[in-house]
Amino acid sequence: MRSGQTQLFIPGPTNIPEAVRQAMNVPMQDMRAPDFGALTLPVFADLKRVMRTETGTVMIFPGSGTAAWEAAITNTLNPGDRVLMARFGQFSKLWVEMAERLGLSVEVIDVAWGAATPVNEIARRLGADRSGAIKAVFVTHNETATGVTSDVAGVRRALDESLHDALLFVDGVSSIGSIDFRMDDWGVDLAVTGSQKGLMCPAGLGILGVSDKALAAARTATMRRAYFEFADMLAMNATGYFPYTPPTPLIHGLKAALDRILRHEGLEAVLARHHHLAQAVRRGVAAMGLSIVAEHPSLASDTVTAIKVPEGIDAREVIAIAYAEFNTSFGSGLGPLNGRVFRIGHLGDLNEAMVLTALSVAELALVRAGADLRFGAGVGAAQAWFAQARGTAPRLTIAAE
Ligand SMILES: *Cc1c(COP(=O)(O)O)cnc(C)c1O
Repeated sequence: MRSGQTQLFIPGPTNIPEAVRQAMNVPMQDMRAPDFGALTLPVFADLKRVMRTETGTVMIFPGSGTAAWEAAITNTLNPGDRVLMARFGQFSKLWVEMAERLGLSVEVIDVAWGAATPVNEIARRLGADRSGAIKAVFVTHNETATGVTSDVAGVRRALDESLHDALLFVDGVSSIGSIDFRMDDWGVDLAVTGSQKGLMCPAGLGILGVSDKALAAARTATMRRAYFEFADMLAMNATGYFPYTPPTPLIHGLKAALDRILRHEGLEAVLARHHHLAQAVRRGVAAMGLSIVAEHPSLASDTVTAIKVPEGIDAREVIAIAYAEFNTSFGSGLGPLNGRVFRIGHLGDLNEAMVLTALSVAELALVRAGADLRFGAGVGAAQAWFAQARGTAPRLTIAAE
């Protein structure tokens, strides 16, 4: 038994606000009761606001974000369909693998881990596809493994400019609710997320935004599906019910979380807070003399930062020390980044003081793992940023020799 709180700085599951935790502590209720829709219908409406869609339909599948990936694919595509995907991190890699396992013919564009979706190359391939063989383009909006955010609007433009009518799939698991995401403006046909990242709930809900065009595709798509059948979900959701038992406590939690996002803080303020805190993390990391995986500052994610450890240091050791000695969880380097990178998740229910804790423990753990850096360098840069953001010029220079 260790005293004090364990600090959670992984990019999902994220910290759950106390009010959301309390909201989930409910007796079980009858999911066929006449008033069940009073719980669920406002949740669907709120999710549409978070995804910024008026014309789309939101569905909630018991399952994680990966379940929503599978639901999106199996309902709208046909076996053997050609789809275009860029691979630049662990999550885009897994999405490619799922598409292949499900029997799609995946045209993969490999770019460096640290780069973003190559919009120009996607435009070129769409332009060359005169016969319309490409049935869908998949974009990982925020690649959680590398901390890189892609330009979904740019991909939409590429589709429009080549008059291509492929469906646009977007993985927004670590962006929706934390980074600007516009389902209608960007013409996203399938927007995928889960409950445990920006939405500040436990894992367990795979959430999908589905455009009218995707719904039309679902009426003729021949890929096999059963549990994830849109038609079953749509028929029941229309009045607030589910085709199978929904996890009602999670829906209560999601309702409370959406209330915080939309009515207490406001979606714009939530996005601005994520940007503000991410800037502090990036300034802190730079002041420690470390670099991030994102190839260019303009690509750096506002929800997660993947940090390269100095030569000769094992990132796994940094993570292990942070956990064992300082009760703090950082995200690991995934795939080829394992051992070379640790990640700070900075999304969901987070504030400035928490960011200072993350940077402070990161410094300690790095030094304990053998890195040569000056205590306070990263924390000081973040403190200076927070002071500057309030219009106060920092009067102290922190961490002088
Ligand atoms: C977390 C994550 C996933 C996987 O979601 P699960 O809920 O773990 O299934 C997929 N894509 C991205 C970008 C993620 O961050």
